[in-house]
Amino acid sequence: MNEELKPCPFCGGKASMNYERIQGEHKGFWAQIICDNCNGRSGGTWAGSYNAAKRKEVEAWNRRANDGKIN
Ligand SMILES: [Zn+2]
Repeated sequence: MNEELKPCPFCGGKASMNYERIQGEHKGFWAQIICDNCNGRSGGTWAGSYNAAKRKEVEAWNRRANDGKIN
C-alpha cells in the first residue's frame, strides 16, 4: 500500500502512519501520523475500517503540510 505522506509540517522530516485496532464497543481502527524526527503528530482519525481511517488521516496530514501549519 502506498502511503503518500508529505513531509512533517513542523520540521520537514519523514512521517509514519501508526494505527491501532480498537476492540469492544467502539470497535474500529484508529490512525495517526507521527513524525519520525520531531514526534509532531496529526490529530488522529477513528473509522470503521483501516482503509477509511488511513485515507482520512493522510488527507488531513497532507492538507496541514500544504498549509505549513498544524493545530
Ligand atoms: Zn517533524
